Amino acid sequence: MKYVGAHVSASGGVENAPLNAKEIKAKSFALFTKNQRQWKSKPLTEENINLFKQNCKTNKYEAKHILPHDSYLINLGHPGKDGLKRSRDAFLDEMQRCEQLGLIMLNFHPGSSLGKIFPEKCLKLIAESINIALNKTKNVTAVIENTAGQGNNVGYTFEHISEIISMVEDKTRVGVCLDTCHCFAAGYDLSTKENYEQTFREFDKIVSLQYLRGMHLNDSKKDLGSRIDRHEQIGKGKIGLEAFKMIMNDDRLDNIPMILETPDNSKWAKEIILLNKLVK
Ligand SMILES: [Zn+2]
Ligand SMILES: [Zn+2]
Repeated sequence: MKYVGAHVSASGGVENAPLNAKEIKAKSFALFTKNQRQWKSKPLTEENINLFKQNCKTNKYEAKHILPHDSYLINLGHPGKDGLKRSRDAFLDEMQRCEQLGLIMLNFHPGSSLGKIFPEKCLKLIAESINIALNKTKNVTAVIENTAGQGNNVGYTFEHISEIISMVEDKTRVGVCLDTCHCFAAGYDLSTKENYEQTFREFDKIVSLQYLRGMHLNDSKKDLGSRIDRHEQIGKGKIGLEAFKMIMNDDRLDNIPMILETPDNSKWAKEIILLNKLVK
């Protein structure tokens, strides 16, 4: 079964996220557990936590279908000592927030070399950062999102992701989230049957499908291999609806959160219906 949802707003408190998800008939959802553009946020209160859990329960959202996303400021592969420490502290705080909320995954962008270190070194720092956070938490899996490879971001090839995972000590608590727009922008085509199969074959060979914990469903404004990250509404971009039809009928992608991050959130309810209708 497919669990299509969206990255919903948590404004006014994390407890509102499951309500916002229900509103658009999402079967899964993503959220920020703190302001994604600030380093510091207030700790979650007992009330936030209890209401969040209660609202998830009432609306039948299980932890395995909730994919929180970390702050955009965090760079776990930061080349500078202070920048790296700041990011590692903030990441640990995010992992702990997930724990408090009873969540079992945290989705993050691997990091950027900022053009100051080799990608290999950056990947090593990222793996170290993950190990540090996993050692200080329980039950939360670090879910690496593939990137479009914009700027100096690493994690746009399946080899990068595999390299990070190989250096993570606890393999039971590391996973991957595949963003369709990022895949396409990084040069992994999904638009034809042949190329779709080739992309997933490569992912399985290099990373392994056993690590797949979630997907981000986005079309792409930019061309295949453009390395530019611009999300587009489903079926309106360069990837096209055919790819999403294949995704919705691919058994290997059952039972994981499939999160819309398309730019116009007023269309999410319709996009969820559209995607669910693609199932044969
Ligand atoms: Zn992301
Ligand atoms: Zn994404």
